[in-house]
Amino acid sequence: MPLLRLPDTSKSKTSNRQACESQITTRTDSFRKADKTKILSSARTLSREPLQQQIKDKHKLLSETARRRGFFWGSFEIYGGLSGFLDLGPLGVGLKRQIEDTWRQFFLQRHGFVEVSTPIITPHKVLEASGHVENFKDPMTECSNCKRRFRADQLVKEATGLETEGMSLEQLGALLKERHVKCPECGGELGPPQYFMTMFKTSIGPYGEDPAYGRPEAAQGIFVNFRRILETMRERFPIGIAQVGTVLRNEISPRQGPIRLREFTIMDFELFFDPAEPDCPYLDEVISEELSIVTEETRSKGTENATKIKVGEAVKRQVIKAPWAAYFMALSKRFLTQLGVDGQHQRFFEKLPSERAHYSAQTFDHEIELDRWGWTEVAGFAYRTDYDLRKHMEATGEDLRVFKPCSTPRLRKIKSIKPNHQNLRKIYQEQTGRIADLISKDDPEKLLTAKKAGQSVKIGSYDIPSDCFDVVEEEVKETGTRFLPHVVEPSFGVERLLYATLEYNLKMKEDRLILGLPFKLAPVQASVFPLVNKDGLQKRATEVYEALIADGLRVEYDEAGSIGRRYARADEAGVPLGITIDYDTLKDDTVTVRDRDSWSQMRTHVGTLASTIHTIVKEGFNTPK
Ligand SMILES: [Zn+2]
Repeated sequence: MPLLRLPDTSKSKTSNRQACESQITTRTDSFRKADKTKILSSARTLSREPLQQQIKDKHKLLSETARRRGFFWGSFEIYGGLSGFLDLGPLGVGLKRQIEDTWRQFFLQRHGFVEVSTPIITPHKVLEASGHVENFKDPMTECSNCKRRFRADQLVKEATGLETEGMSLEQLGALLKERHVKCPECGGELGPPQYFMTMFKTSIGPYGEDPAYGRPEAAQGIFVNFRRILETMRERFPIGIAQVGTVLRNEISPRQGPIRLREFTIMDFELFFDPAEPDCPYLDEVISEELSIVTEETRSKGTENATKIKVGEAVKRQVIKAPWAAYFMALSKRFLTQLGVDGQHQRFFEKLPSERAHYSAQTFDHEIELDRWGWTEVAGFAYRTDYDLRKHMEATGEDLRVFKPCSTPRLRKIKSIKPNHQNLRKIYQEQTGRIADLISKDDPEKLLTAKKAGQSVKIGSYDIPSDCFDVVEEEVKETGTRFLPHVVEPSFGVERLLYATLEYNLKMKEDRLILGLPFKLAPVQASVFPLVNKDGLQKRATEVYEALIADGLRVEYDEAGSIGRRYARADEAGVPLGITIDYDTLKDDTVTVRDRDSWSQMRTHVGTLASTIHTIVKEGFNTPK
């Protein structure tokens, strides 16, 4: 869940409002209306600018394209928008699904890890036990003039360039004063920082008697179900349990469009392992993968230089404490590469102890470089130790430990307490059962000492005479031990991954914009076009389209506009293949298959079209000789 940490806004190249950022707050209607008009007119003028010019501001271009083609846009647009919320359109939903499924293949399926789905609404007592009620908060400052509220740490960071995570309210307040930081909206005086709880609060039932929150991470749903899932998996261990779902964080003043959301999708998974056997059996597969890491040590010296280090070395030198974390970090690098983000634009950023979430013993943020926001966190790797299970065990009294059988059962001598019911009854009468129960749970050594000395023993508020109990030595057969697992948690923010995937695949060819999505990720794999809308071409094209759908391919049908315009539209929507039905199709049943990236074409028979597409998705488009 470490997505709770922020990308550095001070790295922003500009703080101008952008079309897609919809950072509209409710109290600023008239102000924003003017803003919106400007956005709309600039959207119109944008298309007249030469494309080379437009691609210089990738965020702006991407936001325009995403809106036009139906990937994403700010939510509640027709009501003026609301910052921190994002709508996904048809292609956005399709791409999100592909990213999630690719993630499942990378991290879950090949390891036999499992997935669960638990409620978003979470009772107070669960999040109190997990430490979120106490710790999930951000420092906030309010403008004394316009009453808008801001993240105090972000304002200080922007003004000073200092790392502000972990600073106290007093430190932040002093820095705001010292550097004369004023309200970014109206220039008014800022009040003293105070904490604001960033979980969305609600209550369950008609009388509001049961306080609850929107979950800020999907992980707690996994921890509270750990025992049950382990049982359904027949105690297989180590075990990975995942959850993909919506989480809510009531950010104070999100100003980064699709990057900082109040509601987003998280892909959390928890790998539970025995702390006595911390090795990861898959580590060899990634041992020579090179990671760029900005270590805690480097950062404590005041620099952010990344060290290039092989995974094997990082584990050996304890740069990464948990081998499982090291393995998942290497996989994560490969996963991001598959989405189109090459290794040189990726790094792992270790959090300082003061910056880590309350449950973590070591945290790395997986960051990638985004055009607008610089290094931005897209995933986090937290070593949560046994923190969460321990807290839930303490709060509920449920035993969440895992049984570990030993190879040969051991015989062990134990002392146990036998209450003497007959003697107890003489003194305590009807209370005998309860007191016998109390006695039997007490410390055998203490009672043995009292017994030998012939003295009474104090248990609770009772003085129990020594003839009311015996302490006997017994031999028991032990078939195993119980331990509380440790947890390594990789956690990914899906909307950020979606945005990064779009940005890294945005390309120019001649004067055309191409969304070069990898074939496997493209929400639509092929568009079917009749060359013209007459002479039976539409009918044949519809048949081809339906046959491909029936074959399980993700296909769309498009007959609107000239064929050139349809190709251009498909290129921009990231559709890898264009299938054109022309007059030859009616004669010899062949169609043209056009490649989005090279624009080269091949002719193939309708009967083998589906298998040709499957091959291209797997191996790429090979221009026929
Ligand atoms: Zn103000």
